[in-house]
Amino acid sequence: MNIDFSSLAAKYGTPLYIYDFNYIKDRYDELKEAFSGQKNIINYAVKANSNLSVISHLAAQGAGADCVSIGEVKRAVMSGVNKYKIIFSGVGKSDEEIREALNLDILLINLESEGEMKRVEAVASELGKIARISIRVNPNIDPKTHPYISTGLHDNKFGVEIDMAKRMYIYAKKSQFLNPVGIHFHIGSQLTELEPISEACQIVADLAKTLKAIDIDIKFFDVGGGLGVVYSDETTMNVQEYADMIKSVTKNLDVTILCEPGRYMVANSGYFLTKVLYEKKNDKKRFVIIDGAMNDLLRPSLYNAYHKIEAIAKAGEASAADVVGPVCESGDFLGKDVLLPPLEHNDLLVVKSAGAYGFSMSSNYNTRGRVAEVALRDGADRIIRKRESFEDMIASEKEFLV
Ligand SMILES: *Cc1c(COP(=O)(O)O)cnc(C)c1O
Repeated sequence: MNIDFSSLAAKYGTPLYIYDFNYIKDRYDELKEAFSGQKNIINYAVKANSNLSVISHLAAQGAGADCVSIGEVKRAVMSGVNKYKIIFSGVGKSDEEIREALNLDILLINLESEGEMKRVEAVASELGKIARISIRVNPNIDPKTHPYISTGLHDNKFGVEIDMAKRMYIYAKKSQFLNPVGIHFHIGSQLTELEPISEACQIVADLAKTLKAIDIDIKFFDVGGGLGVVYSDETTMNVQEYADMIKSVTKNLDVTILCEPGRYMVANSGYFLTKVLYEKKNDKKRFVIIDGAMNDLLRPSLYNAYHKIEAIAKAGEASAADVVGPVCESGDFLGKDVLLPPLEHNDLLVVKSAGAYGFSMSSNYNTRGRVAEVALRDGADRIIRKRESFEDMIASEKEFLV
């Protein structure tokens, strides 16, 4: 896709997030097609990019939502996601969150511990409701990804071990207020190999089979998210092979597949557009200082994640530079040793693959307003979040100033 970054910068200012909605729809269609032949719901993992218009764009295609807070559940509802396609996951849910989720009557509450199950049961009993639940199983598989985004090993805080899961299902089956209908795993993010997912899938399918044999009717088989994307030169999974593996492993189970991709749907739809403030050199290094920073796009600082960075409409001999923001932290960089032509004030740099865990992880650190977001669709652009002003940032504090 040919994006006119210069005119978008002129129209909306910088820094700016830009998302290609056609790309997002293509990813959704691709996954749907891959799973065809078996009942399935694509539950978009809202935390990857929680802009209401992004969720609504996916909801309009028929997507469900995977949410990790009641705030995300409410975003999904507000964006038009069918409530019977909403899952509430996450390791810690407050009673208030559980209450709201039960009142909203969403598809599933996904449990990650015995303690949580007891709280869901107690709240459901208070409300006189029956909670539809699934249990996140930790299959103890090394997903071969970055340790910060690996979730399926026993050292991780996520999910419960197989034996514990079995005990929980048996308890839930007996409870008046719990209805165990789903099983879930999610072993990590940015997965590029099929093998670990396939192993996990087999382990969890075996458990589902065991449960069915004791009359616990698992209807939803949730394979989590984690599909990797290309940031630089990674080899990623073939989506059709991924879906075929899942279809084959679950063939005799009579279940609806739930798949929860986040990054895969949006990462490469997104561009983070920033302006050069100035260049700075010392004996050793060249720095390009830009108006965007770690508070806008945290992944490089947090995970040492790589994002391709390119200069827009700029020629000249390239040399290595660190691309850094104005935030007062040495960890504030968007790229290290990036080959860039000589740059001047107001030149534009575009940071690629910024659609997932970009804006949604942004903050007001250093009292920097969160940036605007723009959607591109069929050649047209429209704003989907306005730039935060100073007034917006202080709104909840101002009245307490004495
Ligand atoms: C974060 C998360 C996802 C999405 O992960 P991606 O790597 O973005 O696909 C899916 N399911 C659960 C439970 C998650 O926590």
